[in-house]
Amino acid sequence: MERDDPPVRRLADWSADRLAELADEHGTPLYVLDLDRVRRNYRRMAAAFPDAEVHYAAKANTVRPALRALAEEGAGVECASPGELRRALDAGVPGERVQYTAVNPPDADLDRAVDLAAENPGVTITAGAPDTVERLAERGYDGRLCVRVNPGVGAGHHEKVATGADAKFGVPYDDVPELVASARADFDVVGLHAHAGSGISGEDLSAHRELVARMGDLAREVGGLEFVDVGGGFGVPYRPDEQPLDLDSVAAATREALGAVEATLAVEPGRYLVADAGVLLTAVNTVKEAPTATVVGVGAGMTTLARPAIYDAHHAIRNLSAAGADRPDRAVTVAGPVCESADTFGDHDLAAPERGDLLAIGNAGAYGYEMASQYNSRPRPASVVLDGGSARVARRRETMADVTRMETNR
Ligand SMILES: *Cc1c(COP(=O)(O)O)cnc(C)c1O
Repeated sequence: MERDDPPVRRLADWSADRLAELADEHGTPLYVLDLDRVRRNYRRMAAAFPDAEVHYAAKANTVRPALRALAEEGAGVECASPGELRRALDAGVPGERVQYTAVNPPDADLDRAVDLAAENPGVTITAGAPDTVERLAERGYDGRLCVRVNPGVGAGHHEKVATGADAKFGVPYDDVPELVASARADFDVVGLHAHAGSGISGEDLSAHRELVARMGDLAREVGGLEFVDVGGGFGVPYRPDEQPLDLDSVAAATREALGAVEATLAVEPGRYLVADAGVLLTAVNTVKEAPTATVVGVGAGMTTLARPAIYDAHHAIRNLSAAGADRPDRAVTVAGPVCESADTFGDHDLAAPERGDLLAIGNAGAYGYEMASQYNSRPRPASVVLDGGSARVARRRETMADVTRMETNR
């Protein structure tokens, strides 16, 4: 891997000129994802965990060139639905490197997953409840099965993503050995899985250590496994003053906590591989002086990037049009075009924004486009990928025809 490869790409590191060219050519709002950065993030992760399997959690960004680039690097793919499973396979990821983790799956999901697994030998299906295992057996599935464990510990940057301790996810820890023993009659039980929610941070690895240690204990008790998957949740710095994760120390803590197991370690980073490889470009439409704040109205909103509205997430913002110009910073509130008070990107110090300026919103490569919606009848934006010197549209901008396509009561 590149030794001088920085552990984080900050918003300030992007070329303002290049991004402005892309906005001119493709319009705004526009998602931009740099595949070189995605590859480097993967290589850094793979280098920190040399003996582990790295499965990209596709739900962070399913854009096909990213799935393809990661597959070419050797990544596996962790899928949250049969739709993601389909897309990973279509992107050329071999079946043996794909796993599907079923959370309260509808019958149709299990039908499709079982069919896809039959067509693509080597796919692993992960079940998070004993009756999901029964439902797989009822469908004649006898392939690779992994059991999702509820480890009873959770970590997360926000309560809505702290899934480890949530009863919704996984088989209760103490029930796992019996379930594995009985499932072995019908399936090839290959692994145990746990995911503690997002937000492993450098400051406190204690919850991560505890989860991994519990998984190590369980793997030794159960025995005969191919892998122990300790999930994703590798944090990225959303604020300029936050430090990037020290992957080597996370990896060392993981190995130490796991202890000796006769199974391969697997990790499932989503955000870490794509977040800082992406930005969202948006134009300033209005600048309004109000008694309590200066409000900078932009074209992107909660329908484009939902994380601030859902999680109160902070995303750094930079005024690209002010690059090189001598404009002093101003304290402003950046807000979108949706008639909802949650439709805000929060308070920022920006080089004095003016109508027509181009802003870049950072760390938009993860859970950006994926969570976009058509609320307010807004077509979803386009996504452009950068690959070396070239740029190409990976998802075209939606039109009103896309928004109304499913209507039948004309
Ligand atoms: C969402 C998810 C991940 C990835 O989480 P990140 O915080 O993006 O790393 C990994 N595994 C499972 C099962 C998930 O649901």
